[in-house]
Amino acid sequence: SEVYFNGEWMPYDQAKISVFDRGFMLGDGLYEVTPFYEGKPFRLEDHLARLEYCLNEIMIDFDTSSLKALKLEAVSRAGLSQKDAAVYMQVSRGVAPRTHYFPEDVKPTFLMYAFPVKLEGFQHKQWRVLVSEDLRWHRCDIKSTSLLANIKSNSESHRLGLDENLLTRDGYFTEGSHSTIFFIRNGIAYTHPEGPQILSGITRKVVIELCRELNIPVKEQAFPVSELESVDEVFLTGTTTQVMAVSEMISEGKTIYAQPEIGPVTRKLQEAFVAKTRNL
Ligand code: PMP
Repeated sequence: SEVYFNGEWMPYDQAKISVFDRGFMLGDGLYEVTPFYEGKPFRLEDHLARLEYCLNEIMIDFDTSSLKALKLEAVSRAGLSQKDAAVYMQVSRGVAPRTHYFPEDVKPTFLMYAFPVKLEGFQHKQWRVLVSEDLRWHRCDIKSTSLLANIKSNSESHRLGLDENLLTRDGYFTEGSHSTIFFIRNGIAYTHPEGPQILSGITRKVVIELCRELNIPVKEQAFPVSELESVDEVFLTGTTTQVMAVSEMISEGKTIYAQPEIGPVTRKLQEAFVAKTRNL
């Protein structure tokens, strides 16, 4: 299939990067994944704004003005105009001799492609997750392609046949390896505040808006692991995860949270989320 690479559409196997690309050599790059429901983009502007924020934070000089049109083109060229899909895009700093500082006057390397993704039916699933230590750096708000800590932790959950891993730092939940965590207790939704410890999830923002519409109070505060016993419902959010109920949490071989049924608040938010994404 086709990819958009450094200004041109081409078959993916014709796209070549330099061994001195800083994305390859140092993980010096950023990425974004934008969902398309039945061919229509969801929160495309938010995804572009987050990319721009991240570009600015790590001082990559890259013009994003054509990206909206390119994303739509990627979906249509892949024959996904009526389907559920996502667009992956990645910007690396570009090709330069290997240095630990950001080199100047380097042309960023850019890759984009659309792929089909199953977005329907998430509300009939539940995830079992592993709880483990957050090994990541202190700028998790930057959507970096340097995902080593995320993928190392996720591999442990995968090896155990689990669906995702939830990360804790200093006794508090931060987020999942590729999702945001919400806790429901006594009708109140808790989620980690934005800042350097988590990615500012676009789905997190959508779900907070839905909570406001549904009169579910939201507290943006870190949730302590020690209070897990008092929790009624847990769900995860993300671009492809959407709003996924958690049925079990496992830590060091023990079940530390179990909720076999999808709870009423999660259900309400799932229904509202479907209504929002299917009527674009
Ligand atoms: N946290 C991390 C670490 C992620 O990788 C993701 C997935 N992009 C999320 C949260 C959820 O963010 P979003 O809702 O924007 O997909």
